[in-house]
Amino acid sequence: MEENSVKITHPDDIIKSLQSQIAGLKSEIRQLKASAKMTEIDQQEKSDYQESQNRFRTVFETSRLGNKIISSDLKLQQVNSAMVSLLGYSCKEDLIGTKIIDYSPSDHKKHWQILQEKLWKKATPSFSIETTLMKKDGSIIWCQVTSILFQDKGETLGYTIIEDITEKHQLRLQKEEFISVASHELKTPLTSLKAVLQLLNRKVKNEPVITDKHINLAQSAVTYTSKLSNLVADLLNSTKIEQGQLTLNRSRFRLSEILNECCNHIFLDEKYYLTCQGNLLLDVFADQQKIEQVVVNLINNAVKYAPESAEIVVRIEDLEDCAKISVIDRGKGIPAENIPNLFDRYYRINNNGNETSGLGLGLYISAEIIRRHGGEMGVISEPEQGSAFWFTIPKPV
Ligand code: ADP
Repeated sequence: MEENSVKITHPDDIIKSLQSQIAGLKSEIRQLKASAKMTEIDQQEKSDYQESQNRFRTVFETSRLGNKIISSDLKLQQVNSAMVSLLGYSCKEDLIGTKIIDYSPSDHKKHWQILQEKLWKKATPSFSIETTLMKKDGSIIWCQVTSILFQDKGETLGYTIIEDITEKHQLRLQKEEFISVASHELKTPLTSLKAVLQLLNRKVKNEPVITDKHINLAQSAVTYTSKLSNLVADLLNSTKIEQGQLTLNRSRFRLSEILNECCNHIFLDEKYYLTCQGNLLLDVFADQQKIEQVVVNLINNAVKYAPESAEIVVRIEDLEDCAKISVIDRGKGIPAENIPNLFDRYYRINNNGNETSGLGLGLYISAEIIRRHGGEMGVISEPEQGSAFWFTIPKPV
């Protein structure tokens, strides 16, 4: 029997065999431990990967910027909801399988070609470009496009973020246009001032007796200088308003008394006359200089934009809790569609080639001054009847 045969085995052999079995078992345990660890690591890696995938999916989907992923054939594989609305479509399926270049207006297709070449052919790690896209309704948007290439399960994919920068782009254009208009506006009186001073200088040298011509030239020099200083003041005021630095220095004063100050320049021109109506004894509590600035601006506008209206009326009304001042002309009036934007910064009406100079800042600054006083500003205008610009300011308590 086998049991008997074991019995006759030498104890040393039994020990050896047991030792080798133990060693075998130990190595098996080591291997099992190692493989258990590997499985653990595998699982950890898998769950890390899963987690990062989920994180990416959440960021991709909830981003307010357009996000898309394309394969090497440049076709859209995945898009987020922001991308769908950026292009004006209603669902992702409308876009999947199409190419982004299909949404590019023909004059900017080359932008997308450059982007694709840089990424896919020249293997640039990331590339950014400003270009346009055409929405479903045919409207064009400006966008900032940033793309990178990445590897996913052995496949190279392109990931792109698209930001709609149409508004920023328009602001930039507006700013450039403003700088060009402002330079032109400053240059015109400066050129005239230079010419007048040169002429005056020559006359003074050659004609020792002062004549009316000298006086007229000197008067023109003053006019051009004040035009220049008004323009510079408008520019500075508009910057102050933007930076929230418009401060008020309030005091009690009689409204009708500032009108003489404001209108001296009008009386110089015999073509116009000013009529003051209403409560000429009404006092207000406001920044006198700034209210003068508003009234001067409204009167100047009446002269500039309603030259056919010889009479300009300033009406002062005592309302229950404030004073109301209106500057009324009998000019051509303002088309209803232009009125909502009239007090916007840089806004000017295109008068079919009847170009008058200006920066489109006067009404914007005036409205801000009135707003800072806690008052309101507005206009009532009838085509061919004229306009009444009005504002309200507080009365002394
Ligand atoms: P600017 O005079 O530099 O253009 P404003 O802000 O003072 O800037 O005026 C904005 C626009 O409003 C003007 O370009 C003009 O077309 C219009 N406007 C202002 N006042 C009158 C007015 N009394 N009658 C007709 N249009 C006016």
